[in-house]
Amino acid sequence: MPKWRTPVLALAVASAMALAAVLPVGPLVAFVAGGLGALLVAVALAPRPRPPPAAEPPPLPRGDAVERVRSSSSARALIETLPSPLLIIARTGRVAYANPAAQRALPRLQPGVHFANLIRAPAFVEAVGATLADGDERSVQFAAHQGRERFFEARVGLLPIDAAFGPEAQAPEAQVIVQIEDRTEARRAEQLRSDFIANASHELRTPLASIIGYIETLQNHAKNDPAAREKFLAIMDREAARMQRLVDDLMSLSRIELTEHVRPVEEWSLNAIAAESASALVPLARQQGVTLVIELEPSGATVLGDRDQLAQVFSNLVDNAVKYAGPERTVRLFAAAPSKAHPSRHGVTVADDGPGIPREHLPRLTERFYRVNVSSSRNKGGTGLGLAIVKHILNRHEGRLEIASTPGKGSVFTVWLPRGGGSDPALGAATEPDRQSA
Ligand code: ADP
Repeated sequence: MPKWRTPVLALAVASAMALAAVLPVGPLVAFVAGGLGALLVAVALAPRPRPPPAAEPPPLPRGDAVERVRSSSSARALIETLPSPLLIIARTGRVAYANPAAQRALPRLQPGVHFANLIRAPAFVEAVGATLADGDERSVQFAAHQGRERFFEARVGLLPIDAAFGPEAQAPEAQVIVQIEDRTEARRAEQLRSDFIANASHELRTPLASIIGYIETLQNHAKNDPAAREKFLAIMDREAARMQRLVDDLMSLSRIELTEHVRPVEEWSLNAIAAESASALVPLARQQGVTLVIELEPSGATVLGDRDQLAQVFSNLVDNAVKYAGPERTVRLFAAAPSKAHPSRHGVTVADDGPGIPREHLPRLTERFYRVNVSSSRNKGGTGLGLAIVKHILNRHEGRLEIASTPGKGSVFTVWLPRGGGSDPALGAATEPDRQSA
């Protein structure tokens, strides 16, 4: 008998006796009615017996075949999603399997193609042949021309015999697995970095060598020559200032690179920042005989930006314009007319009527240390980093630099920045155009 039945029967008897005592019916009817009611309540409250557990699926056979199917299909699913190309090459040398990344990257890939026809780089062919022969793992770097030169690294190893991929690979023989990585961008970055270090040390070494040379001269031949001493000290002063500017620009560049991935959040009037940093160069322009005209309404559109960095952008552009335009020329700053090429952006232009820049140089002007004329830049105190700094600051701000120039007529540099939410009252109180000239 189940455990719950004993107390239920006891309850039924007890309630029947109680009802028989209180109800105005015969004791037998009361006994039966009380017993039935108690029985119903007891059944409702009684713990229900559990259904028998569902039959477990029969265990899968754990033989080698099933394990292999499982592991090879999950391994296959995994390598199908790999972003880098992966090949499996059968003993015959034919490609037995290529993942989707390999299919995208290798235009010569055909079913059953021989690996040596697929990638013809001698280093690659040699490495795969050697692993097929001795089973050792190796890694090899090679270049390939796909429109332009690209650099790859391939890791070649032996695949376990039972991990078969594709019909070519069914033979119970060793197969080779090749993982290829496109190292072009990494290599380009390494190259840029080492070029940069070489250029920076060359730029520093030249004035340093000159200063050391003059020190020696002053210690020897010019020891007692006051006129020579004055002349050499002036040159040393100029060279030391050049080194200082270079170190300052290098420091700025590295600081900007550190924050390049962080979007600025403060809202400023771009016109006001540009006008303010141009105003600081009025004395320099006057000294050079250049007329600097600032035609910017300080209210204007707001942009999200780092105030100091945006000020540096305009300081570099106006400094260049004044420097390269030369005496009796004019440099103007004004708000750019809205452009379809730069929707939702506000532009400020720095234009000069100086010598201009030949067209072929325009795309390279923002490269570090790139100058149209090295000696002219040096004579004018240039470091070759001004426009590279502008480019990095604008990258951080998701801005653009547009350069237009006509040799003999002048250059136009326009800075475009995404518009912010409104105009900045703190900076944009004045409504009259701010005109200044030197
Ligand atoms: P630099 O310190 O040499 O001025 P930048 O990066 O600022 O370096 O500028 C790169 C080169 O672009 C300059 O060397 C110069 O040849 C050219 N350039 C920049 N601005 C002007 C301009 N307004 N007019 C003519 N050439 C310019």
